[in-house]
Amino acid sequence: MLRLHDTANGQVRELVPRDEGRISLYVCGPTVYDVPHIGHGRSMLVYDILRRYLEWSGLAVEHVSNITDIDDKIIQRAHERGRSPADVAEEFERAWYDAVDALGVLRPTHDPHATAFVDRMLELIGELVDKGLAYETDDGVYFVTESVPDYGLLARQSLDSLRSGARVEVEEQKRSPIDFVLWKKAKPGEPSWESPWGPGRPGWHTECVVMSLDLLGDGFDIHTGGLDLMFPHHENERAQAVAVGKGFARHWMHHAFVEVGGEKMSKSLDNFTSLTDLLARHDARAYRLLVLRSHYRSPMEVTPATIGDAESGLDRLDSFARRFPSPAAEPDPAALARFRELMDDDLRTPQAVALLFDLVGQANAGDDACAAAAAREIARALGLELRAGGEDIDAETTALMAERDAARAARDFARADALRDELQSRGWVVEDTAEGTRVHR
Ligand SMILES: [Zn+2]
Repeated sequence: MLRLHDTANGQVRELVPRDEGRISLYVCGPTVYDVPHIGHGRSMLVYDILRRYLEWSGLAVEHVSNITDIDDKIIQRAHERGRSPADVAEEFERAWYDAVDALGVLRPTHDPHATAFVDRMLELIGELVDKGLAYETDDGVYFVTESVPDYGLLARQSLDSLRSGARVEVEEQKRSPIDFVLWKKAKPGEPSWESPWGPGRPGWHTECVVMSLDLLGDGFDIHTGGLDLMFPHHENERAQAVAVGKGFARHWMHHAFVEVGGEKMSKSLDNFTSLTDLLARHDARAYRLLVLRSHYRSPMEVTPATIGDAESGLDRLDSFARRFPSPAAEPDPAALARFRELMDDDLRTPQAVALLFDLVGQANAGDDACAAAAAREIARALGLELRAGGEDIDAETTALMAERDAARAARDFARADALRDELQSRGWVVEDTAEGTRVHR
């Protein structure tokens, strides 16, 4: 069984499913106000690799990943562009899923939208207020952080040290600087929902705790996200669940950042790189290979050189696939056992990829069909698609591709999406490239 690092205790420990044979997985999804950046791409791929490996190991995975479709940043962007927040959210949700699909990331079982769960969020906030664990101020409703004795579990800091490190804002009505907002009262012109505390909208931390517990139930298996979400977002989600006596995530998994030129990637550092741009310039599979080549808890460097290396690696894999087009033997069991051993040890993907390339070398050198079959199986388990090339694209498919390009050029995304679905239903994998729609089997 998989052993996975757990942020809550800082140790690699066995992942014991709540329900035998099933894993419930919550991945914090995007706030849709901009195109995804390469850090999001790593996040999507890390959890896709986890999910695929669990499924390859014979487990059923229920994967929930939310869409935060109401937020200060969305309202700000809508204001800048003179559009409605719903319109902005819809546009960038589409950009998100375009990137998800291009990366070959499996879509979640459920993708709850925050705006569809506001009633449930109000129920939770009401319960917290009734229990004296939340209070109203002029601008919202806040959580009494000190009501949770082990607050700071994920940050691995005590309440006292978090409190003394917190910034105190002038004129704030919060009882403690680390209390956080559950409900934000609306300012004029902002989208809002009615509540016992006046019109407003839910806080981000309340959104995820409600959607995860509603869809996956008490004590679900894994809660995930980037290291930047560990504190305060995940800590605050957990605090609310603990406060109302619910079992929350049994295992916390966080991945490290993407670095560009040795610095953490972020918009404020001006090294923002959009995933959409990257995918237009490079084979999406190269980004998956690059992600696999770093352990998920180590920073990952994205530069033209590292992407270029990954593309050469893919060429090697594709030429192997042309030489061994279909499995002609059973996979070498020792190789698969070694693969399992590596992945079960906190997902040692860099070593698993090295094993894959060793097997490819072995297959090529000795015409070894068992090694070739094992290499194909490992690539499949990791979601690395190998292309033997030389596919014939029929005239009807070519016409659908052209029609889709025209729809995208006219910004008719509903039509473009329908055409992508049509191509997929004919068995094609659909990719968006700088040259337009591309398909392969
Ligand atoms: Zn979240």
